[in-house]
Amino acid sequence: MTALALEHDAINLGQGFPDTDGPAPILEAARQAIADGRNQYPPGPGVPELLDAIAAHQRRFYGIDLDPRAEVLVTVGATEAIAAAVLALVQPGDEVVTFEPYYDSYAATIALAGGVRRTSVLRFPDFGVDEASLRAAFSPRTRLVLLNTPHNPTGRVFTRAEMELIAGLAREHDAWVLTDEVYEHLVFDDAEHIPMATLPGMWERTLTISSAGKTFSTTGWKVGWISGPAEAVTAVRAVKQFLTYVGSGPFQPAVALGLGLGDEVYAALTSSMAAKRDLLVGGLRDAGLQVAVPEGTYFVVADASPLGGADGLEFARTIPERAGVACVPVSAFHDDKAAGRPLVRFAFCKDDAILVEAVERLRRL
Ligand code: PMP
Repeated sequence: MTALALEHDAINLGQGFPDTDGPAPILEAARQAIADGRNQYPPGPGVPELLDAIAAHQRRFYGIDLDPRAEVLVTVGATEAIAAAVLALVQPGDEVVTFEPYYDSYAATIALAGGVRRTSVLRFPDFGVDEASLRAAFSPRTRLVLLNTPHNPTGRVFTRAEMELIAGLAREHDAWVLTDEVYEHLVFDDAEHIPMATLPGMWERTLTISSAGKTFSTTGWKVGWISGPAEAVTAVRAVKQFLTYVGSGPFQPAVALGLGLGDEVYAALTSSMAAKRDLLVGGLRDAGLQVAVPEGTYFVVADASPLGGADGLEFARTIPERAGVACVPVSAFHDDKAAGRPLVRFAFCKDDAILVEAVERLRRL
C-alpha cells in the first residue's frame, strides 16, 4: 500500500509511522552518543543505563519491580522481541492462542517456530473479547498466548475483566503469555492500560514487550525490549544472540534518557494523538464511513462499504488512485478473511494539516 501511495502521490495513512520525530532531548542524546564514540557493539543484553531505565519505567508506571540485569533484554524493536520469544518458547506442534485481527508478524513468527496458530476473532465495531471463542481456542497443546493491548489494528484497550479472562485461561492451561504493549502510552479518555504482568499469579508466566518507536516517535531506531522472569528472558536472549546479537548502539542511551523524561512528555504525546484521533474519526464519519472509535494506538478501523468498499482489499488497492489517500485492508490481519472483509485501517499519527487534507479527499470520493 505504501508503494501504491508513492506511485499515485497519495497521502499515506496506511503504514503506521509518525511524520514528526520524538522529543528534542532524545534526538540530541543520540547525536551525542555518536559523537561520544558509542558506535561499536553494545553489550548483549543492552547498555546498562537502558536496562536500568526500563526497570525504572516499569516501577514508575505500573509498580513492577525488575532486576535490570536478569529480567530485562533490549531487542531490535518489538519485532525482534516477539520473534525471539516465540522461537524460545514454542516447539513444533505447540499451539499459540492469539486474537485476530493480529499484527502481521505474529503469524509469521509462529510459523517460523513450527507452532500452530489458534485465534479468537474480535468483531467490528466493538471488537470485544468473545469468551466462547477464546475458550475454544485453548487446548491441552496451548503453550503460549500472544496478546496485544492496546491493540493494533482495532484500537481496543482490553478491560480488566477481559484481561482477567485471558489470564485465567492461561493459568488453567499452564500457558505462557507474551504481551505486546508497544502502545502502552497511547491510551485515550477513560481507558486504562493494564499490563498482564500486574494481574495476580501472572508475573511468573508473562513476558512483556514494548518499544521506543511508538512512545518516542522514533520507529526507525528499532529499540525494543522484553522483560519477565529471569529464566525466560535468558531463553529469549539465547535466540536473540543468533538473530541479531545486538543492535541500535547509539540509540540505546538516547532511549534511556527518554524513558526518564517527566510525565508531561508522556501526557503531551497522548493528548496530541487523542486530538488527531478526533480529527480523523470526525472526518471519516463526515465522509460517510462507519468508524470504530479507538481507545488507544494510532489506528482507526472503518467500514468502507458506504463508499463502495464492501471488499476492503479492493477499496485499499484503488483509493490511492481514486482519492489520493492510502489505507490498509484489515483482512490482511485475519485468518478469517470474511470477518475483516469490508474493513480498512487508517493511521492518524500524521500532521494535522495532512489529516484534514486526507479527509477532504475522502469526502470528495
Ligand atoms: N507490535 C505491534 C502491535 C505493532 O503495531 C508494531 C509496529 N507497527 C510492532 C509490534 C513493531 O514494533 P517495532 O517497530 O519496535 O519493531
